[in-house]
Amino acid sequence: DTIGADLDRTVARVGGREALVECATGRRFSYTEFAAEVDAVALGLDALGVAAGDRVGIWAPNCAEWAFVQYATAKLGAILVNVNPAYRTHELRYVLRQSGISILVSAPEFRSSDYRGMVGEVRGECPDLREVVFLGDPEWERLVAGGRAADHGLLAERAAQLSPDDPVNIQYTSGTTGFPKGATLTHHNLLNNGFFVGEGCGYTEADRICIPVPYYHCFGMGMGNLAATSHGATMVIPAPGFDPVATLRAVQEERCTSLYGVPTMFIAELALPDLADYDLSSLRTGIMAGSPCPVEVMKRVVAEMGMTEVTICYGMTETSPVSTQTGADDDLDRRTSTVGRVHPHLEIKVVDPATGLTVPRGAPGELCTRGYSVMRGYWGDAEATAKTIDSARWMHTGDLAVMDAEGYVNIVGRIKDLVIRGGENVYPREVEEFLYTHPDVVDAQVIGVPDERFGEELMAWVRLREGAEPLTAEALREFCAGRLAHFKVPRYVKVVDAFPMTVTGKVRKVEMREVSVRELG
Ligand code: ATP
Ligand code: MG
Repeated sequence: DTIGADLDRTVARVGGREALVECATGRRFSYTEFAAEVDAVALGLDALGVAAGDRVGIWAPNCAEWAFVQYATAKLGAILVNVNPAYRTHELRYVLRQSGISILVSAPEFRSSDYRGMVGEVRGECPDLREVVFLGDPEWERLVAGGRAADHGLLAERAAQLSPDDPVNIQYTSGTTGFPKGATLTHHNLLNNGFFVGEGCGYTEADRICIPVPYYHCFGMGMGNLAATSHGATMVIPAPGFDPVATLRAVQEERCTSLYGVPTMFIAELALPDLADYDLSSLRTGIMAGSPCPVEVMKRVVAEMGMTEVTICYGMTETSPVSTQTGADDDLDRRTSTVGRVHPHLEIKVVDPATGLTVPRGAPGELCTRGYSVMRGYWGDAEATAKTIDSARWMHTGDLAVMDAEGYVNIVGRIKDLVIRGGENVYPREVEEFLYTHPDVVDAQVIGVPDERFGEELMAWVRLREGAEPLTAEALREFCAGRLAHFKVPRYVKVVDAFPMTVTGKVRKVEMREVSVRELG
């Protein structure tokens, strides 16, 4: 079905229940009110001349309007383009031009002259860009007011012309390994995946989902919003950007039953000195995803945050995004150490990247996904699409995985991050998991750096517990000795306060490598 039709069905079923809460302002919308806002924005955009297939960009941190625009564009048959809120002129120009955005909606906090200046600077080079509207500006208020007064019959006419296979979103990837790529996704791709993620979490209209992950990314807009609206659950936005305190406060005050985050967000929440003072007793489930989820962190989330049914999802923007998920009925060990089994109606396989042949269960190889969730392709980049989706429609993820006899998948890392030291394959993930067991280490990231003798050497970047003694490479090696094979023991250690990150909260190992290579000379 289409995203708009699914929303309307939910409204008909649970119209009086809460759809969305924006904690920063205290604004609340029932499903009926939410849908009225969505329709007003849709009709306002229609009056601006947004036609089916037009690209509408949204360049804003999380807020209620982000969600209104998401569903409004879907109802019009337009294509929403998520523009990273951290973008500055260089990247903004690229995305506006690459996806041919005609209307750009931007955040109230971007109303400052800096942002207007940025838009002004790139405007001349973006021939498709017709309008830039800042949320909260008089232009925006007029657009919505016009939409409220407009003939709502128009939306039914637009709906009749839509197909679930129409593209509804150009969703940019996180940009962890390079420049973000725009995945073209349809209603069918996204709505089904949102629905099945919600099924995986056992959502009903009683659930209240705390969403501190960015709407810019599929984690927020898909696994958050679409999972919620397809189940009549409530979306809770704790703050425009990620803030561990605001997040836990939102869980407490809004009695959230589910909490989302990439591992770094959960690590930040667990590190709050007054964690035990928050009342998190409403939490039942949640999702950790986006990068390798350390077992130690998962265990603490279950034990200290009470998220007894927390699931791990694995996926990527190009597959709408989720391909595997752990189930609440899996045993705790599997729920903390694997990314679960394949989602309904999807296929996965693990292949030898060199031959393309499926490897035996238990052996590492590249994970491939096939089924309804696979994107149309990268927007305007047939060459990149052909490199990732093969002729049998298998999506080659670039991730290394091991599948066990029962179908549980373990992600061992990205192919690009594999370190080959003296001919031995080292999966940084495994070394990181081990470093987490060090009492002073709160976060560890391992990379390979060039080495004359071994080809590559391992380097660990670690964040330490507050008040811990500085950790030397020697002390760390001693900690590893006898417990980790000698070739997996990091040669270098760098203690840091923070890692280079994407806005989606992922560690940019590319940048870590650049910095390390420079520093090691
Ligand atoms: P880019 O493609 O722009 O370099 P990205 O791959 O980080 O960035 P996303 O689509 O946001 O962009 O992320 C998908 C990737 O995140 C996967 O390919 C995988 O490497 C990683 N990932 C997602 N979930 C998990 C998980 N549960 N465990 C391990 N890795 C994960
Ligand atoms: Mg990727």
